Amino acid sequence: MIYQRSSALFEEAEKVIPGGVNSPVRAFKGVGGTPIFVKEAKGAYLYDEDGNRLIDFINSWGPMILGHAFEPVVEAVINKAKKGTSFGMPTEIETKIAELAVSMVPNIDKIRFVNSGTEACMSAVRLARGFTGKDKIIKFKGCYHGHSDSFLIQAGSGASTFGVPNSPGVTQGTAKDTLLASYNDIEGVRKLVASDQNEIACIIIEPVAGNMGCIPPHDRFLQALRAICDENDILLIFDEVMTGFRLAKGGAQELFNINADIICFGKVIGGGLPVGAFAARNEIMNHLAPLGPVYQAGTLSGNPLAMAAGLAMLNELNNDESVFNRLAEKTTYLHDGISKVLAENNIIHTINRVGSMISVHFDEGKVVDFDTAAKGNNDRFKKFFHGMLNQGIYIAPSAFETWFITDALTYGDLDFTIEAVNQVAKTL
Ligand SMILES: *Cc1c(COP(=O)(O)O)cnc(C)c1O
Repeated sequence: MIYQRSSALFEEAEKVIPGGVNSPVRAFKGVGGTPIFVKEAKGAYLYDEDGNRLIDFINSWGPMILGHAFEPVVEAVINKAKKGTSFGMPTEIETKIAELAVSMVPNIDKIRFVNSGTEACMSAVRLARGFTGKDKIIKFKGCYHGHSDSFLIQAGSGASTFGVPNSPGVTQGTAKDTLLASYNDIEGVRKLVASDQNEIACIIIEPVAGNMGCIPPHDRFLQALRAICDENDILLIFDEVMTGFRLAKGGAQELFNINADIICFGKVIGGGLPVGAFAARNEIMNHLAPLGPVYQAGTLSGNPLAMAAGLAMLNELNNDESVFNRLAEKTTYLHDGISKVLAENNIIHTINRVGSMISVHFDEGKVVDFDTAAKGNNDRFKKFFHGMLNQGIYIAPSAFETWFITDALTYGDLDFTIEAVNQVAKTL
């Protein structure tokens, strides 16, 4: 495939945008080469500026769960846009989408809309701190909750359990309030809670991790977290920015039958427009301004175009009883097919999958946390990525990302993809 125009556009972009992109992973630093510029997309396919067609397994990192340029969403946005694009005043559609979200998701009474997953998680933690009167939070290594300061913390070397910033600009003062645990390690969480007498406001987790590849929670892990939170007056925050409205109507809470205290949303909830949200029971949400003292606001929050897109998307998902099963079946089919051809080509691999989230790791051990995810053969992944691209398949340009399956994919597309893996496997 030829990427002449994409390369030229990237060169232009680099002159006026840092690294040529508005979000770092797009720059292909993890795989080498230069990014592809998209011209348009429809259903399961991307069309780039050089006229190549690619089958898309990223789908804007999740939102396009029913495919690109999905007609009901596009219609809803166009109709709204004609009536004004922002007012900074209440509109009826905000209540409509809130009612629908509250009816679909277990254990929430109220929801507040923001503009991104980052904002949702940042606000959820502030609310948890305000509600509990405590300062510290526990997060899991390798889980991503957006780019606000408290979350940009990784384990330092040595025995310290206190976080150190992994981006300049995050202060030590902020970092010291973020404690790190390992995904699926409940004893580690117990130790952190025991050593920090009653200072922990919340534990925030991706109930299925999706930002270090796809990593399912071990059996009973989330239940055990719930119990620890209950015993210690800690709020449990499920960051369902990725899993919400994807794994089930009610997200991971429904799938695993566990109630979190605050739930964060993003991605699918906006139908491809910039939307995030956080939700909880009344007793927690009533702490939020203007009802309560915890401040949170946004000029464009609840924006009519964004709400129209989100409402159209949620309506589709709510009205289609079989969509989540269909997505899971397609993903299982892909999993089985890829597994088979990789094995036939003697390529060591592990595939993780939950619902319509799937990731391929070039390592034979189980991938259960950040450390095991990081063991994968990255050179092999880079080759795999570029090989797949050459076959017309777009997967995430990083070994630490999940593939997001869209309902627009046909079984023909999946067979094409499996055969592409077969061809690429021969070159690895
Ligand atoms: C994408 C993501 C975020 C951040 O959302 P943005 O809209 O990119 O700010 C937060 N949490 C999880 C689990 C995500 O996957």
